[in-house]
Amino acid sequence: LPVIDVRNVHRIYDSGGVPTHALRGVSLMVRRGEFLCIMGPSGSGKSTLMNILGCLDTPTSGTYLLEGVDVAKLDDDELAQVRATRIGFVFQSFNLLPRSTVIRNVTLPLLYTDVAPRDRERRACEALASVGLPAEYFDHRSNELSGGQMQRVAIARALVNDPALVLADEPTGNLDSATSEVVLNTFVRMRDAGKTVVLITHDPEVATWADRCVHIRDGRLLTDEQERAHVMRS
Ligand code: ADP
Ligand code: ADP
Repeated sequence: LPVIDVRNVHRIYDSGGVPTHALRGVSLMVRRGEFLCIMGPSGSGKSTLMNILGCLDTPTSGTYLLEGVDVAKLDDDELAQVRATRIGFVFQSFNLLPRSTVIRNVTLPLLYTDVAPRDRERRACEALASVGLPAEYFDHRSNELSGGQMQRVAIARALVNDPALVLADEPTGNLDSATSEVVLNTFVRMRDAGKTVVLITHDPEVATWADRCVHIRDGRLLTDEQERAHVMRS
């Protein structure tokens, strides 16, 4: 059973009577323990696809099965539950609470689950250890950390619920290349631990870390070979 099974998905935005066809028949399968990267120019549909994969938005037509579940059949509460327990989100700008401690930032997602209060801190420490953040930082406010440390805290927050799927939108976009390598290594390790990782990037260097790369152009997915053929023609 693939973790992600997207079949012929279209997404049409109807902004003031002028429809924008943002996804035009996207199909995509991603297995457990697979690290996929999605590349494409601005406006090609990356955010739209990520929003659908993250259950923040639903297709206009076509189906999305997440771990075998047709998300179109879930109500808003069930979708919120899927987002909170099965999916971890990582952003370019980290999105941490700046004045809260590292531990507090990482325990936050557990407030929306049935993890007992006494277990929350232990789970957060385990997640932080798994991304290699030294314990001396756990009680620091997150705004006292470097960019690379902040992104590791954000990744720990994404992992603390043990999600099946981790979605990362330009996670190294604000990091220098040495720090990016540290962060990309954490994605490789979570892939090795059986998670499914989907990462959006503009950076071909980042894409080399993934098992597989798909390209998106004008709302359509292209394989590496189709993308090379497209570039050759243009
Ligand atoms: P990215 O930085 O990923 O290229 P964009 O700058 O295209 O993202 O879009 C940023 C946000 O604005 C996205 O959440 C997207 O859904 C929304 N957005 C993009 N284009 C439009 C539009 N024409 N009308 C309304 N919202 C839009
Ligand atoms: P990317 O992330 O690759 O920059 P997006 O998915 O944000 O691309 O956008 C794909 C297309 O859909 C663009 O033409 C964008 O302007 C449009 N779009 C995105 N979000 C919205 C929205 N909320 N309303 C209307 N149009 C949108």
